[in-house]
Amino acid sequence: MKKPEIAASIGDASNDAACGEPASGRSWQELDFWMNCIGAPMVLVEKTVLTVRYANRNAAILFGIGLEAFRDHPVEGLVGPEATLMLGQIWSVAPVGVPGEPFLIRAVVQGQERVLMVQATKIVVEGETLRLLTFMDAPPQGSVTLAGWQENVLSLLNWLPFGFEIASADDQIQFANSTFKDMFGYSQDDIANIDDWWRLAYPDPDYRAFARSQWYTSIAAARAENREMTPFDLDVATARGERRTIQFRHRTIGNFNVNLYIDVTRERAYARELKVLADTDPLTGAMNRRRFFEEADRRHGKGRPVAFLMLDIDHFKTINDKYGHGVGDLVLVEFTRRCNAVLQAEDCFGRMGGEEFAIVLARPEGMTDVLAVAEEIRLAVCAQPFLVAKTCLPVSTSMGAAICAPGESVSSGISRADHALYSAKAAGRNRVIFDRG
Ligand code: GH3
Ligand code: MG
Ligand code: MG
Repeated sequence: MKKPEIAASIGDASNDAACGEPASGRSWQELDFWMNCIGAPMVLVEKTVLTVRYANRNAAILFGIGLEAFRDHPVEGLVGPEATLMLGQIWSVAPVGVPGEPFLIRAVVQGQERVLMVQATKIVVEGETLRLLTFMDAPPQGSVTLAGWQENVLSLLNWLPFGFEIASADDQIQFANSTFKDMFGYSQDDIANIDDWWRLAYPDPDYRAFARSQWYTSIAAARAENREMTPFDLDVATARGERRTIQFRHRTIGNFNVNLYIDVTRERAYARELKVLADTDPLTGAMNRRRFFEEADRRHGKGRPVAFLMLDIDHFKTINDKYGHGVGDLVLVEFTRRCNAVLQAEDCFGRMGGEEFAIVLARPEGMTDVLAVAEEIRLAVCAQPFLVAKTCLPVSTSMGAAICAPGESVSSGISRADHALYSAKAAGRNRVIFDRG
C-alpha cells in the first residue's frame, strides 16, 4: 500500500471532548496501523461520491482486490448499486468519531449476494469529512438494535410516494428516502443540519419565521397530547428553484422524529381553480348568486351597515328578440364591465340570474352616498350606447337600493332593494329608487 505522507486527525476538535479523541492530529500511519489491527473489513470513503480513499487488509480479503486497487475505487464496484444507494441514504447518524448504529444491506460482493452489517463512522481528515465503513457478516435476524431497519424496509421506504425522514431528538437527519431527495433535490451535504434546511427551503426570512413557528407550535401541541401533529401546508423552495406546496405530517416515535412530506402542489392548484369555477358566472366573470350571498353575509357580519343595489337591464328581451341571444350575451358582458369600472375593490358585484345583477357597497356613508354611486352606474350604462358585434345599442338599467344596518338581516335588506327595483320599473325604468326602510 502506498504510505500516505500527510498528517491526519481522526475526529475534530469540537467533538474531541465528547468522543474521547485526542486534540492532536493522528497520522495516516497510525490510521493504517489501527485499521489493520481491527478484525473487521474497513473502508474509508469520500461521502458524497462514495469512492474509496483507504481500506484495510480484511477489506481486501472480503472484496477480493489488492489494497492498492481500493484507491478511488467506486463503492458501487465493491457492494453493488442497491447497497450503494442504501449507504448513500444513511445520513450523518452520530457526531464525528462516534460509530453510528449498525444497519443491514443486501450487497453483491464478488458476484455473490450477501447480507452485510455496516457501521458508519464520520471522521475528519485534514478538514475533510470522510466516512469509515466497517463491514461484518449480518448477525441472525432480530439482533440488530436499529429495529426495523432491514434492507427490505429500506426498499419499501424508498418506494413510498411521499418523502419520509427520520431525525434524532436534536433534529439531526438520520435517514431520508429517495422520494424526499427527488422531491426537493437537496443532497446530504446541502442539508447537513436542520438550519441548512430552514435556510434553503424558505429563502424569504419572513416566510421562514412563519414556517418555523408553524412547525414548532404544531409539534409541541402534538407531543403534549401524544398524538400525530395536525398536518399543515407550506411552500418549499427546491434545489431546482421551484416552489412546491408540501403537506407536512409528523409523529414523535420514541427518540425519533418521523416526518412525512407530501407534495400537494397540483391538488391545491386544482382546488383553487375549482373554487373559482364554483364561484363565478361563466359568461360575465361576475360572482354567481351563491357566492354573492356568501360575500354579502361576510361583509354584513362586520358590524357595519352595508348597502344593497339590485339591478335589472331594461327591455333586455327586446335586445335578444331583435339581435339574437349572442348579442344579448355580449351586452351582459359589457354591462358587467361598465358596472365594475365604477365599483371599488371592496364592493362586490354578482349576477343573480338572467339580466339581473346585485351589488354590495361595503362602506356606504348614507343615502346620498349610495344614490351617488347608483347614479354613476346608471349613467355609465346609458350615457354611451353599447357597441357589440358591430351594433350600436342603447341600454339602460333600473335600480333599487337599500342600506342594511347590522341589526337587519341580509335577506330583508335585499328584499327591500328588490321592491325598490320594481318601483323603478313601474316608474318608467332607467332610474334609481332608494328604500328608506
Ligand atoms: P324589463 O325592462 O321589465 O326588465 O324587461 P326585460 O325584457 O328586461 O325583462 P324580461 O324578464 O321579460 O326578460 C329578460 C330576458 O333575459 C328573458 C331571457 O330570455 C333573457 N335572458 C336570461 N338569461 C339570459 C342570458 O344568459 N343571455 C341572454 N342573451 N339572454 C338571457
Ligand atoms: Mg328581469
Ligand atoms: Mg329586465
